Amino acid sequence: MNASLNTPATSPAAGMVIIGGGLTAATAAEALRKQGYGGAVTIVAAEAEVPYQRPPLSKGFLAGKEDDEALLPLLAHWYDENNVTLLTGVAATALDPTGHTVTLDNGTTLPYAKALIATGAAPRRIPLSGVDLDGVCTFRTKADSVALKLKLAGGGHHVVMIGSGWIGMEIAATATELGNHVTLLGLEDVPLSAAIGTTLGTVFMDRHKEAGVTFLLPASAAEIQGGNGAVTHVLTTTGVSLPADIVIVAVGVVPNIALAQGAGLTINNGIEVTAGLQTSEPDVFAAGDVANAMHPITGALARSEHWANAIAGGKVAARSMLGQDAVLDDIPYFYTDQFDLGMEYSGFGALTKDAQLVIRGSLEKREFIAFWLLDGRLVAGMNVNIWDVQDAIKELISSQRIIDTHKLADPQTPLEAI
Ligand SMILES: Cc1cc2nc3c(=O)[nH]c(=O)nc-3n(C[C@H](O)[C@H](O)[C@H](O)COP(=O)(O)OP(=O)(O)OC[C@H]3O[C@@H](n4cnc5c(N)ncnc54)[C@H](O)[C@@H]3O)c2cc1C
Repeated sequence: MNASLNTPATSPAAGMVIIGGGLTAATAAEALRKQGYGGAVTIVAAEAEVPYQRPPLSKGFLAGKEDDEALLPLLAHWYDENNVTLLTGVAATALDPTGHTVTLDNGTTLPYAKALIATGAAPRRIPLSGVDLDGVCTFRTKADSVALKLKLAGGGHHVVMIGSGWIGMEIAATATELGNHVTLLGLEDVPLSAAIGTTLGTVFMDRHKEAGVTFLLPASAAEIQGGNGAVTHVLTTTGVSLPADIVIVAVGVVPNIALAQGAGLTINNGIEVTAGLQTSEPDVFAAGDVANAMHPITGALARSEHWANAIAGGKVAARSMLGQDAVLDDIPYFYTDQFDLGMEYSGFGALTKDAQLVIRGSLEKREFIAFWLLDGRLVAGMNVNIWDVQDAIKELISSQRIIDTHKLADPQTPLEAI
């Protein structure tokens, strides 16, 4: 590799510093090397882990079907082989945009030419009596998944899930498959309805009920009760006392903005960035769950908490750091797996609230594509147990053409012909 290729002029010794050890960080490091950057690349990762991806943590890894290696976007030896310095178990405590330095909690200071903040998000905490009891946990990291796997082992446990979003529903499915009794609390009448509406949320809820998951909706926890330091019950806001030896609080995440805040960057539901993922400081970029990026198609800021955004964002950030003209203009995408329901979703969730819902296929058979149309144009599409349609859905969204809803609902009309 040519060591001087694309090396920014600010300081020849100061290369690229990537803060955060998740999928965004790993993808950005890989993209820098793939783009031919030969200067120093350092990843500062707070967790004592080689960067890993999180989706399997609530699914195959928690179920014991996937091993540690399945979590790694890049195998451990990739970093050495590509001359990327990976500092694990080390957190960045300060970033000085004027001096171009990052201070670490091990006392060292790193100079940077360009920095990427990819610090992700952390579980939202709720001020609830009893959250510190043994058996009560949040869920974000590999360590959380390993610990929960141990707790769920053998089955027969009484699990109360507080939160009816994607993570809550996925863990509920896995815990049930492992032979545990799961009761799920959530603030809406139907789980997932904030994301996909009540009709489609009901499809997922019914599948869970079929498998034995109990839903108490809408309800939350008023108090977590225990004895000898360990959880025994959850008292709901509707006055029900649920026996519990495991309680999982999965009520969303908050972006890890402390470093950016300390550096004086513009904060607005995460770190506000341009479509090229540049922060309010020209040599500092942000990507992944922590970044609230301007989307070129909608002209609005959006913060995505999904796997595909971590990958796409890591790549765009790397190119922007190298001075290339890159923008994050992908149609947002995510997926979930719950029992035998496999789902993929593309589109702009924020635009679906007042949209027309069109279904192709059968909700009853749980094989369908749901489309959301706003003013006749497709803004989102979700396929459940139907595959190889994402490219066509994304094309329909990005074309922004007026769509014939009869053709859209007709399984005999190829999506490519609409
Ligand atoms: C259990 C689970 C299941 C999921 N399943 C899906 C799914 O099925 N589909 C989907 O699309 N998405 C899914 N997601 C979301 C997806 O995993 C995230 O969008 C993705 O992890 C974001 O990557 P990231 O690198 O931006 O942030 P993170 O993965 O949060 O990584 C950020 C890292 O930065 C570290 N860090 C924070 N502050 C500092 C600091 N000051 N110094 C150094 N390091 C720091 C953190 O410790 C963390 O390791 C899931 C998430 C979870 C938790």
